[in-house]
Amino acid sequence: TTIGVPREIKADEYRVAMLPVGVEELTHAGARVLVETGAGLGSGLTDDQYAEAGAEIVETAQEVWAQADLVVKVKEPQPLEWPWMRPGQTLFTYFHFAADETLTRAVIDSGVTAIAYETIRDAKGALPLLTPMSEVAGRMSIQEGAKFLEKPTQGRGILLAGVPGVAPAEVVILGGGVVGSNAAKVAAGLGANVRILDVNLDRLRYLDDIMPPNVTTLYSDRHTIRESLQRADLVIGAVLITGARAPRLVRRQDLALMNTGAVIVDVAIDQGGCVETARPTTHKDPTFAVDGIIHYCVTNMPGAVGRTSTYALCNVTLPYVARMVREGWRALATRDPGFAEGVNIHAGRVTNQAVANTFHLEC
Ligand code: NAD
Repeated sequence: TTIGVPREIKADEYRVAMLPVGVEELTHAGARVLVETGAGLGSGLTDDQYAEAGAEIVETAQEVWAQADLVVKVKEPQPLEWPWMRPGQTLFTYFHFAADETLTRAVIDSGVTAIAYETIRDAKGALPLLTPMSEVAGRMSIQEGAKFLEKPTQGRGILLAGVPGVAPAEVVILGGGVVGSNAAKVAAGLGANVRILDVNLDRLRYLDDIMPPNVTTLYSDRHTIRESLQRADLVIGAVLITGARAPRLVRRQDLALMNTGAVIVDVAIDQGGCVETARPTTHKDPTFAVDGIIHYCVTNMPGAVGRTSTYALCNVTLPYVARMVREGWRALATRDPGFAEGVNIHAGRVTNQAVANTFHLEC
C-alpha cells in the first residue's frame, strides 16, 4: 500500500493527518508513506522528522495524490484537490457531507472511496474520531472565556480563580457531554464555581460522582437556565442532539438577565449554536457583543491549537489506518460494522443513509 499525506490547504488549518511515529509504524508494516513537503510545519513537525521515520518527502500535492492508494487528511477535500481524487483510491478524513452538497457531488463523481472520520462508531456506539476534538474544544473554551472576560477585550474584568478575599467567577455549562465535562474540569481546576446543566440524569449522576466539590450538577429546564444566566460570568454552550440542529436554550431576551461584560462561548455553533444571538466567527475575529454580552462562536476551535489537536487526532486515526493497511478497508468493513459506518461514498454511490437522505440520493 502507498499512503499519501498531503499538506492541508483549508484556511486557518494547522493540523496534519499523520505524525512521524505513524510513518514509522506503517513503514514497518510494509507500507510506503509519501508526505508532502511542509505538511507538518503548522504543527511544528519538520520534513526531516518524517524522513527519519521512513517517509518519502514529495514536492507537490499532486504527486502525493497521483501515487497514493490511501490518502489520509484532516479536512474535507478542497476544490483544488477534487481533480486528483480517482476510482480505486481511498480517502480517509473528516468530510461532513451533509453540510455541503457540492462537495458530496464532487466526491461521487470522482469514484474515490470516501471514509469519513465523523461517522465511524466504536463498540459502544460512540464516535471515537470526534471525541478528541470535543475534548480540545471543551478545555479550550475556558481558556478563551478567561481571555475575553478581561477588560481590554470588553469583558467584565473578572479573574476566573478569584483571589483570597474575592469570590471566584461563576461558570455555567449548558450540556455535560464531552465538551461540557472537559470545560468543567478545567474551570473547576482554576477554582471557579461551576454549574453543569443537562437533561440526562444518568449523565448528571456520573458527573456528580467524578467532579470536584466546586462543580454542581443541575437539571436543564427554563427556570434553572434563567436563574443560572443571572449569576454567570462565563457561559459555555455545549449541548448536542445527535444529527439535529442545536436547541436554542438561551434566547435573545435572556441576555438582559446577564451581567454586562459576561462572556458566552457557544461551542455548539457548528450545529447552529444553542444561543439565539450566536453566529459563526473565525479565529481572526472571534467575538462580537450583543446587548453588552460578549459572544465567542468560532466553528473550528481545535485549529488554533494545531499541535495539541494533531497529536489528539492522530492518536485515534492511526489504529484505523494501520488496520486498513493490514487487512484492506473492505475486509475491515465486513468485520467491524462500526468502521463500515464510516464508508460514506464508494464507486460513485452514496453508502451512508443519512447523507443519501439529506440530498435525496439512492443509497
Ligand atoms: P455530547 O453528545 O458528548 O454532549 C452533549 C450533551 O448535551 C449531552 O450530555 C446531552 O444530554 C446534552 N443535552 C441535550 N439537550 C440538552 C438540553 N436541552 N439542556 C442541557 N443539555 C442538553 O456532545 P459533545 O461532543 O460534547 O459536543 C457538543 C457540541 O460541541 C457539538 O455541537 C459539537 O459539534 C460541538 N463541537 C464544536 C467544536 C468547535 O470547534 N466549535 C469542536 C468540537 C465539538
